[in-house]
Amino acid sequence: MPISIFDMFRVGIGPSSSHTVGPMRAGKRFVEELHQQNLLMNCDHIVVQLKGSLAATGKGHATDQAVMLGLMGHLPDTIEVASIASFIDQIQKTKQLLLDQTKFISFDPEADIQFHPEVQDPYHTNAMEFYAFNDKNEMIFTEKIYSPGGGFIEAESEIHQSNYSKSSHLDLNKNVKYPFKNTKELLEICRQEKMSIAELIFQNELTWRSAEEIEEKLDQIAHLMHEIIESGLSAQGVLPGDLKVKRRAPTLYQTLSKATNFNKDPLLIMDWINVWGLAAAEENAAGGRVITAPTNGASGVIPAVLEYYRQYVEGADVKGIQNFLLTAGAIGLIYKRNASISGAEVGCQGEIGVACSMAAAGLAASQGATVEQIENAAEIGMEHFLGLTCDPVKGQVQIPCIERNAIAAVKAINASRMALRGDGSHFISLDQVVRTMLITGKDMQTKYKETSLGGLAVSIVEC
Ligand code: SF4
Repeated sequence: MPISIFDMFRVGIGPSSSHTVGPMRAGKRFVEELHQQNLLMNCDHIVVQLKGSLAATGKGHATDQAVMLGLMGHLPDTIEVASIASFIDQIQKTKQLLLDQTKFISFDPEADIQFHPEVQDPYHTNAMEFYAFNDKNEMIFTEKIYSPGGGFIEAESEIHQSNYSKSSHLDLNKNVKYPFKNTKELLEICRQEKMSIAELIFQNELTWRSAEEIEEKLDQIAHLMHEIIESGLSAQGVLPGDLKVKRRAPTLYQTLSKATNFNKDPLLIMDWINVWGLAAAEENAAGGRVITAPTNGASGVIPAVLEYYRQYVEGADVKGIQNFLLTAGAIGLIYKRNASISGAEVGCQGEIGVACSMAAAGLAASQGATVEQIENAAEIGMEHFLGLTCDPVKGQVQIPCIERNAIAAVKAINASRMALRGDGSHFISLDQVVRTMLITGKDMQTKYKETSLGGLAVSIVEC
């Protein structure tokens, strides 16, 4: 399964790519399978079991709601965000669900979505089992579907068919013009062909779409990232959930809009980067429109760094933005193939760390960095997030997630600048850092991997 960079930049909804976007796509996929097997009209009842991390933090991440919306036939990129609350309200009141917009089935969310945080699936903790029953309460179809991060889904049946192994399943080698498995291979091809990472990725993307379509999609992503920031800067109030976290971005934005004296405080620029990161991350936490980059929890980092490029880098233009996204996407593919972009699998280093690494590489590329400097930027961007745990308080993508986006955006810019000031030579390669991230993630205890059983998630109770 070769993956496109556009799989790293998926339009969706908040608050989580693995716990909201993936489960919604999984629900939709399950009803599509019922359709294909002519079972939809026989289906009278559905039960869904959420396992592992999906169960541990599913309530805070709206996983149950996402599954219901998917079963109704909705998808994260097209659903109207404003209508979600009424859809869920309707199911809760009537105990009926409009399966794939086709027929009503009985569905009581309390009983029919079952949470099993104690079950750790050996393949991936984010597992969902769907069961469809007929009117005699006989099971007519079942499927296990995983949500391994970034909004990707994988059905167990496909995994078995493809004789699954992690490295062969995400095969970047198939079909594309310039196949590569890791940074070493990517850079070797760039040197041989005398092309940039962005040019190479562009050529590979032609496997799936025309040059015009690629450019159009890149421009749409950049535009939507800007819109998400704008929306977060103007939205007021408190984020959903028990924590009652107040949105910070709008107030900070108003303060910054009045503060223009950069001579007295040259670090005002950092405040701006922070506010863009906060704004996008708060939109995600509010369940608004989001672009995974590479995940929802980390979806404020790349937009904030891109906004910095637009507003503060001399000569910033559309081509630079495209180079940014193509290069950042290439780095994301390397993490996805060789490690993980799932907080439930490797901790927050796989989300915020990867986003920082992607953003650092993208920013360096947009300013004409060599491939060695780009690798260096990406490597610095991750190196100082190694070991970062995932410990969302009350299972909500708010604390510490929102602030982490702002911090990582500033760090990405620093990493990019450090790399651009050098000649590209560096001691640790990006591939070594990616491998280290994976090993560190495997060593990390489950309580630090999107379960809300460790770290900050429990410290507020103990203090
Ligand atoms: S702590 Fe990091 S990985 Fe965990 S939910 Fe928050 S942003 Fe995602």
